[in-house]
Amino acid sequence: MRRAVLVAPSDLRIEEAPVPEPGPGEILVKVEACGICTLEQRLYAGSLRLPLPLVPGHEAAGSIVKVGTGVVEDLAEGQKVALDLVYRCGECYYCRIGKSNLCLNRYKNPARMLGGFSDYLIVRPSQVFPVGGKVGFVEASFAEPLACCIHSLKRLKVAMTEDLLVVGAGVMGLLHVLAARCMGLRVTVSEPDPLRRAKAMEMGADFAVDPASVDLEAFARDLTGGTGFSSCVITSPAPGALEPAFRAMAKASRINIYTAYEDEHHVPLDLNTIHRNELLVTGTEGRLQEDFLQAVRLLSFGKVDVKPLVSGLTSFSTLDEGFRLALSGKAYRVVLVHGAA
Ligand SMILES: [Zn+2]
Ligand SMILES: [Zn+2]
Repeated sequence: MRRAVLVAPSDLRIEEAPVPEPGPGEILVKVEACGICTLEQRLYAGSLRLPLPLVPGHEAAGSIVKVGTGVVEDLAEGQKVALDLVYRCGECYYCRIGKSNLCLNRYKNPARMLGGFSDYLIVRPSQVFPVGGKVGFVEASFAEPLACCIHSLKRLKVAMTEDLLVVGAGVMGLLHVLAARCMGLRVTVSEPDPLRRAKAMEMGADFAVDPASVDLEAFARDLTGGTGFSSCVITSPAPGALEPAFRAMAKASRINIYTAYEDEHHVPLDLNTIHRNELLVTGTEGRLQEDFLQAVRLLSFGKVDVKPLVSGLTSFSTLDEGFRLALSGKAYRVVLVHGAA
């Protein structure tokens, strides 16, 4: 089998390796598709440092090849699955308080880290999520990022018919739009790029506004009879995107800093505004098992269509080009298809 090993930033090597044998309590999965997410892009570009070498890829889907002895869950060979490839130890403080997304040990075990850019993978039963319906492998690879958006919206405690502001219409912003539509929210997207605004409308946003030409606060007051947006997700790392969004929020509103930042920035808000308006500012990182399950169900039920987010498919032999496209700023998601020539 082949696997792509990141030896150093921008140095990906395709290696041959024997297909592993699942031990007791383990499952062998043939991986069919794996997205090139921001985490992989940042590892490749060298802006995120994890111990190398490693096999990247955490947005993966495939099918079960062999179930090891002692697996209690009824899993059939050939079953299509989405894979949760971020390791959780189950033993640290955060795992024990139900916040396994903040597991202290998730990047400490190189043998259990990521790995989706590999033809076969050994996983534990808790890492496989059976996918139903007519969902293809490429679509199923979106279960992981969709789960992160579901986690984000749940953290905001959104309620049906609320007005949500999504700042940024990249992949994560648009997956928030899809999930928010399923939760019965009215969604406004703020995005300076006209092509991305058009994409947001195509994917079900109610409004897409250009923050460079539209006063977001005035727009929000107009839309809501004067109150403002009740919840907000920041998916764009542009620091200038924060302040207009904060000004457009209602009293008792909630704001989630979803994106990661490469530099240090501060919340552009005076403390009295937070105090008097009962604003809640939070962040989210990753997702829990339940979020992952719900993402797989949303995809399986046909409630969300992620196909418009696929900007390109790549293969092992063109993986460097795939990374360049993913990093170009012009793509949504680029997906490695393992069986592609
Ligand atoms: Zn991801
Ligand atoms: Zn843990």
